[in-house]
Amino acid sequence: MPIYEYRCEDCAKLSSILVRSPKTAPAPICQHCSGTRLKKVMSKVGRLKTQGDVVQEYGTPRPGESYSDPRQIGTWVERRFESYGMPVPDETRKMIDAAREGELPGPAGDL
Ligand SMILES: [Zn+2]
Repeated sequence: MPIYEYRCEDCAKLSSILVRSPKTAPAPICQHCSGTRLKKVMSKVGRLKTQGDVVQEYGTPRPGESYSDPRQIGTWVERRFESYGMPVPDETRKMIDAAREGELPGPAGDL
């Protein structure tokens, strides 16, 4: 039996609803506010990345990305967060600021 995810138009939260048969299924009801204005979401895009996921994925620079220009430090991190519509977490922000002031994270390069 498939499980579909719905996003509530009232509270914007996701509900996972087990659908026994798509033809006879009753209208989905929000599990959070009992609203009925639910929109089915594809699980692929329905899964919002958590802050932890993003840090895990983008917390370290990829090979080839260098800190050669202090003004570029953290810029790509900020862009990643922006692309997910999330504010840069305080810890990350502090790290970026410190790096821009010369405290490069990780093993010191030959700067
Ligand atoms: Zn709701």
